[in-house]
Formats: sequence, C-alpha cells, structure tokens
Amino acid sequence: MTGYSGVLQEVRAVSGSAVLVAVSKTHPYEAVMEAYAEGARIFGENRVQEAEAKFPPMGERPEGMRLYLIGQLQRNKVRKALQIADRIESVDSLPLIDKIEKEAAALGRTIEVLLELNSSGEEQKAGFRTEEEALAAAGHIMADCPHIILKGLMTVGPLGYDRERNREAFSYAHKVFAGMNSLSSDCDVLSMGMSADWQQALACGSTEVRIGTAIFGARA
Ligand SMILES: *Cc1c(COP(=O)(O)O)cnc(C)c1O
Repeated sequence: MTGYSGVLQEVRAVSGSAVLVAVSKTHPYEAVMEAYAEGARIFGENRVQEAEAKFPPMGERPEGMRLYLIGQLQRNKVRKALQIADRIESVDSLPLIDKIEKEAAALGRTIEVLLELNSSGEEQKAGFRTEEEALAAAGHIMADCPHIILKGLMTVGPLGYDRERNREAFSYAHKVFAGMNSLSSDCDVLSMGMSADWQQALACGSTEVRIGTAIFGARA
C-alpha cells in the first residue's frame, strides 16, 4: 500500500503509538495537502530553502500542521530554519547547538531539537559518533541552552539495507536514547526508520518513523 493512510495503517499494525513523519522532500505542496487530507500533520524536509519555498509561512499553515527539518543544517541557515521549522531533528555538533541557542534567543522563541547519532560509523554520515559525545551534547543543552527543548535522538540506518548491520545500529541508538531519557523524561523521542527499514526500527524501540518514498512515491 502507498499513500499516507495506507502507510499509517501498516505502521499502526506494528505500533499503536509510533509517530509517522511524512517526508515530503522533492514533492510539491499539492502532495503535502493530499497527505494532510488523509490525516498527516507532521512533514519532514531536509533542505531549508526547499521547505521555505514549499510551505506557507508559520502561522499561516493549515490547522495542526508541523514541519520538521531532518537534513544536515549549515550554521548560516540556522536563522532561516528557526523561522520555518517546528523542530530540528538533525542537530549534529556542538557549534550547531550554540548557534541555534544564540539565534533562538535573538528571535525570542524556543525550538524542539533531536540530536543526530551516527549509529553506523560511516565516514560520510553526519551525527555524533559515540554515546559519550551525544550525552555530553545533551548535558550541554540541558545546562546552558534555555531556548532549546531537547526531545530526544534521531538516527539514519546504514547505507544499503543489511539486516544485521541495521540491527546493530538501531540497538546502539536505542542504548544512547535510554541514556538521554534517564537524564530527562522530556527526551522521549527516538526517531529512526525510513521506507526500507521502519519495521525493524520499531522492533528496536523507535518511537517515530520518517517515511517518504512509501507515502509519496520515488523521488526524481
Ligand atoms: C529522505 C529521508 C527520509 C525518508 O526516506 P525514504 O526512504 O524516502 O522513506 C527519512 N529521514 C531522512 C533523514 C531523510 O533524509
């Protein structure tokens, strides 16, 4: 099945509570509104510029619509990101954290974030590399960043699906997430699982899946 309601039905058959983020990158706003009509409320985009061009300004969006940024964020795009996003799910370095805190303070808003973990150790991939690094970043946000609401952890499975490597990466992410959750019960989101691996991610403790292709079809 495809389309938002078909995918939601499949996710619900596995988990009654997992959040489904509809990843609309590369697809037009008409596709977003089709999914919205089927009940989708949370949309994921990986590029600030594309998201800004596609979605109405904050405050003018359809009732309940939320936009999450899930792609690598350059520091020079943080201010723009804070003007369009309800949450940044791809926070991958201490300098980025400090930039987000500074810009959010300047804009007089708070922002929800997830830390991104590089759970597979692949060189080309973004994210904190170890449990220690991620927990240190979490502690820094909790102690020093009043404009950042740390909601949890995000990870992307290994490139190219491999069941055992995926399981290792997802289990490691779950362990790091458990550590963050013990620091603060506000950290209750573990975002992992995409079109190819969401079932396995849920089996490893994911609370939120980010699905594009299975909802909207292949990207150009
Ligand atoms: C594109 C993307 C997704 C969705 O991927 P699909 O395979 O199309 O479901 C999820 N998370 C991130 C970070 C992405 O960039």
